[in-house]
Amino acid sequence: MDIIRINDNSDKLYYIGGIVRDKLLGVQSLDVDITYVGNAIEYCSKFGEVIQENPDFGTVRVNVGGRAVDFASTRAEVYEKKGHLPVVTKIGCSLKEDVLRRDFTVNALAMSVSTGEIVDYAGGREDLKNKLLRVLHDESFIDDPTRIIRALKFRVRFGFELEEHTRRLQEDYLAHINYDMSYKRVKKELIETFNLNSQRAFEIFVNEGIYKLVSPENFELPKINIEELIKKYPVQNIWLVYIGLLPDLSRLEFTKEERKIIEDARTIGDLKNDFEIYKAFDGLASESILLYGILKDMRAVVRYLDTLANIKISITGEDLKRLGIAPSPEYQKIFDFVLKAKLENPKITFEDEIQLAKNFKN
Ligand code: ATP
Repeated sequence: MDIIRINDNSDKLYYIGGIVRDKLLGVQSLDVDITYVGNAIEYCSKFGEVIQENPDFGTVRVNVGGRAVDFASTRAEVYEKKGHLPVVTKIGCSLKEDVLRRDFTVNALAMSVSTGEIVDYAGGREDLKNKLLRVLHDESFIDDPTRIIRALKFRVRFGFELEEHTRRLQEDYLAHINYDMSYKRVKKELIETFNLNSQRAFEIFVNEGIYKLVSPENFELPKINIEELIKKYPVQNIWLVYIGLLPDLSRLEFTKEERKIIEDARTIGDLKNDFEIYKAFDGLASESILLYGILKDMRAVVRYLDTLANIKISITGEDLKRLGIAPSPEYQKIFDFVLKAKLENPKITFEDEIQLAKNFKN
């Protein structure tokens, strides 16, 4: 998303955070954040029709020339309960206070809307030049451990590295994790990070022990390159193929569909022949199939996805009725009998299938 033009001559309106970082990096931004030094709800409604406002956070969404733009008031926060959402202590604080509550120096840059001047209270420009992620204070990961996953996301997305002291703070935190944290936010960051489909992200996640934020017991990197696997067999919920591998997922809140994907992959036992493979995987989410492959038996998965998944029997219940067989649970047995034959010889025709159905004996 490009920087949106706003007609403002004050020295109180600033693009802030990711958008400034992205502009300096010369990459497209995912969203536009604008901060007003003062009360944004009062000041920014003049830019267009107000779509929504949240007085508790001092934020307002305004329709600016057909685009929904979020304006925030500068605000100060404290982490009363470490690992949980901070409490807003002041709306309309100084710009400096507002930027110093942020996660990394490269995300603490502001740019004046009226003059384009960059305001850099934390040394973000220098770190951006050197591709370094540096926290703003030593308690940063204790206040909000999701920042460790955010750092991983930025490391992979932009090729950044952790600055040395920040790396040590991460190590310290991972050696003393406080599991009473907001896992809703952890999940959001995991989704954004692993939907990038990056083997490197997963290697860092495992080798640096970041996974312990979710699943405390030791976990080893699977031998399979998951990035390549997903490139060959695309899935919708990429992140689940990575995160679903962790032994302990009890802290994350999954939707019903997500939980089913993981449970399906974990409950399938050994698959000894084509028929068992087909019956186990037919109708299953692709994510479950890949997870099973990584966890148990990739040979079965490749056999299914490359070959067996394309095989379908042609006869239907209607055909069986026409043969004079009354509808009953027997139908399923007949379909399985025909399927077994077709898996052995995919070339058999519809007429062959009818013949097989006729010959079927229970
Ligand atoms: P993206 O391109 O992924 O949207 P972003 O930096 O804009 O990157 P957002 O999650 O949209 O990320 O956050 C906007 C800004 O809010 C960040 O640039 C940062 O300044 C601040 N921020 C976001 N999450 C945190 C956090 N957990 N702790 C402190 N500051 C944060």
